[in-house]
Amino acid sequence: MKIAILPGDGIGPEIVAQAQRVIDVLRDEGLAVTTETAPVGGAGVDAAGDPLPEATLALAGTADAILMGAVGGPKYDTLPREKRPEQGLLRLRKALGLFANLRPAILYPELAAASSLKPEIVSGLDIVIVRELTGDIYFGQPRGRRKNAAGEDEGFDTMHYSVPEIERIARVGFATARQRGRKLCSVDKANVLDTSILWRETVTRLAAEYPDVTLSHMYVDNAAMQLVRNPKQFDVIVTGNMFGDILSDEASMLAGSIGMLPSASLDANQKGLYEPIHGSAPDLAGQDKANPLATILSLAMLFRHSAARPDVAERIERAVHRVLAQGHRTGDIALPGERTMGTRAMGDAVVAALREAR
Ligand code: NAD
Repeated sequence: MKIAILPGDGIGPEIVAQAQRVIDVLRDEGLAVTTETAPVGGAGVDAAGDPLPEATLALAGTADAILMGAVGGPKYDTLPREKRPEQGLLRLRKALGLFANLRPAILYPELAAASSLKPEIVSGLDIVIVRELTGDIYFGQPRGRRKNAAGEDEGFDTMHYSVPEIERIARVGFATARQRGRKLCSVDKANVLDTSILWRETVTRLAAEYPDVTLSHMYVDNAAMQLVRNPKQFDVIVTGNMFGDILSDEASMLAGSIGMLPSASLDANQKGLYEPIHGSAPDLAGQDKANPLATILSLAMLFRHSAARPDVAERIERAVHRVLAQGHRTGDIALPGERTMGTRAMGDAVVAALREAR
């Protein structure tokens, strides 16, 4: 398989370099994988005057999967909107039709003290939020500003989902649950919104095709509450774009540091863009301080979803778990007084654990 590597800006190149070392180990062992690197975001602007240079888009189009670092930084904050680094990412998602965003929130027991919740509530947490990424009120038309009947200024947006849009994201939810604990919770607001009533009907109808998955439904306000009350009750959550935006950020905080959390954005054929959920951390860039584990775990997701190699994914995840169990910590996941290590040393530890876990 061919992986397009887009390091991006800030800490992006440093953290992606550690994931690249993991790929190198696997390739040395005989895994048939090639990589090609291209600039995106601010690096794309610097190299070709465009946050998504044509050559980068072409590479992403021909690759089987894309591994990205992060984009953005103060140097690019004053650029016109179309040249801003995040436009490169948005255009890439759109061009590749990446409609399904998978965000696992995993809390390794070793890091339970880093969460803002009590360790017994979150220790061992392992959930996935499947968020629809290309529809809903964020893209619905009409939208805008107008005068209402009383002559007052008002803003308005339109929430809508078609049955095919709901079906395809629900199928990703069912399939994800099937690979894990076989429990799917569909989150909506069907007590208030017509869009959600259709959502619930459609997801319920599809459940007949997945008899091995237990489907439940929850209103979004309750889901927000349950995620902090008893998050371990969930296995996989599937939801629309706006609800998923909010719930996935909430869930990521349960897991302590954002330096630990990977994500995947998939198209209809399991091709995907894999990236850590955090940004380019300009405050850490170039200092060998960033945590590379979210990026390495994103690579594990790549092998699970785009390469159909769950064995390789699990091996990488086991290696990460092992380095945590051995007490290795970057600054973001260390408790006060704990010894910390740099980005490259954490990469060394993962590579060593990976070799041992062969
Ligand atoms: P950020 O995620 O970059 O940083 C937030 C905080 O978390 C910072 O204190 C940072 O040091 C820390 N942090 C982030 N990743 C870390 C890691 N791997 N290890 C240790 N600590 C880490 O968010 P921000 O500061 O709001 O944004 C910085 C830049 O990143 C902005 O230009 C923003 O637009 C961009 N951004 C990009 C993406 C993306 O590429 N998908 C996502 C979010 C933000």
